[in-house]
Amino acid sequence: MAGDGDAAAGVVDAEVVIVGGGIAGLATALALRRAGAARGGGVLVLERHAELRATGAALTIFPNGWMALRALGVARKLTSRYGSYETSKVTNLETGATQVFRFAGNKDKCEDVRLRVVDRKALLEALAEELPPGTVRFSSKLVAIDTERAAAAGDSPDETVILRLDDGTVIRAKVLIGCDGVHSVVARWLGLSEPASSGRSAVRGLSVFPGGHHMKRELRQFLSEGLRAGMVPISDTDVYWFLVNNTKEAAGDPVKTLREVTDNLGRHMPAEYLDVVRRSDHANLSWAPLLYRSPASLLLAGAAAARGAVTVAGDAFHPMTPDMAQGGCSALEDAVVLARALAGAPAPAEGVAAYVAQRRWRAAWLVAGAYVSGWVQQGGTSVRGVLGQLVRVFRDWVFYPFVFPRLADTMWFDCGDLTPGTTQGESHTE
Ligand SMILES: Cc1cc2nc3c(=O)[nH]c(=O)nc-3n(C[C@H](O)[C@H](O)[C@H](O)COP(=O)(O)OP(=O)(O)OC[C@H]3O[C@@H](n4cnc5c(N)ncnc54)[C@H](O)[C@@H]3O)c2cc1C
Repeated sequence: MAGDGDAAAGVVDAEVVIVGGGIAGLATALALRRAGAARGGGVLVLERHAELRATGAALTIFPNGWMALRALGVARKLTSRYGSYETSKVTNLETGATQVFRFAGNKDKCEDVRLRVVDRKALLEALAEELPPGTVRFSSKLVAIDTERAAAAGDSPDETVILRLDDGTVIRAKVLIGCDGVHSVVARWLGLSEPASSGRSAVRGLSVFPGGHHMKRELRQFLSEGLRAGMVPISDTDVYWFLVNNTKEAAGDPVKTLREVTDNLGRHMPAEYLDVVRRSDHANLSWAPLLYRSPASLLLAGAAAARGAVTVAGDAFHPMTPDMAQGGCSALEDAVVLARALAGAPAPAEGVAAYVAQRRWRAAWLVAGAYVSGWVQQGGTSVRGVLGQLVRVFRDWVFYPFVFPRLADTMWFDCGDLTPGTTQGESHTE
């Protein structure tokens, strides 16, 4: 954890500080430990909430996410609890046609990397349990960042990062990794572009059937003009559901949110879906606008994601719309690649630069792929007239046969292992 410090003056010295105790932050802390990358010191995670908090109930983890979790040594804890899925049934409510997609396609179907939907809190806990006690400092909100030339550095360009928390604590860090989500303070300090609105939002919830839901283990999706709804069981009693829609804003109150889904936005959805929504646990409901960082800015100004030994990971780096369910999976990849880069570099700044160089093309591709996928399949379906026809022609004759398989391939990306001396793509051990 934190190293020496002047506690009386509220000043703490730390080797590596990670801001944000979400998927990216906890995975990065664990990856750094496993790679032995926190030279001589420890890793401190700052989380603004008083406990681990997961918005969004559940998330789908694709093979790339499982390979990263395997490198982190926590995949088995989760694969033993959550069953895998092979199929998604997508029903177009306008035509009545149902298409069945097999997730694995013709890839190697190794059981432990198959797609699974997991409870978000369980994922955070699985990562946090592997960290030494005290690694996560809760109720610690970063409010400002500064730098100063390292005191004993002579002519060296090394800078120490000075972090100010809302409780008055000051932390001096050698390495700063912003894992503070889509509205990242660290990304803003680095000068990355502000996230853009996709013009869409998503409602998500978890419904509980104490006597069992008796649903098939598959992802059901329903498409209708401007809407994509889905539901999938995550255990014998719990069902995760979502509704992606073309509104930007959201009601905060759970009762209003549910009424908006059942009586307005989703009123044309099948009765079985609405029945699931009505049984939602109010504590798990969320409604969020869908934001993304422009892929062009990630490519053109992406080098800004590294400044000395400061960088970003997860949504703080590459927020994306959820249409390929890759935000969390790619945050896990970031953690592994960053830790390996830091462990293998002579100085942290070089490791950070190598990480950003490796990640920004993939990040830009995922953000662009998710955006196009969402627009073609949902956002653009409410466009009328000739343009609407063109969108449908593009979707059926170009997107599904040519673009979709390329996008699906991205979900098989193997970020490699953390064992010192290995590189991207080498096999994992857990
Ligand atoms: C509708 C929807 C569905 C999705 N479905 C999937 C899916 O199925 N699969 C998938 O892989 N991804 C999915 N995602 C994406 C996924 O949720 C995100 O990519 C992932 O949560 C990013 O994790 P993160 O740790 O980078 O950010 P976050 O989860 O946002 O965590 C950031 C953390 O930083 C803390 N923090 C923020 N600011 C500060 C500060 N100043 N000081 C201290 N702490 C701070 C926050 O409290 C939080 O704990 C979905 C997203 C949406 C919106």
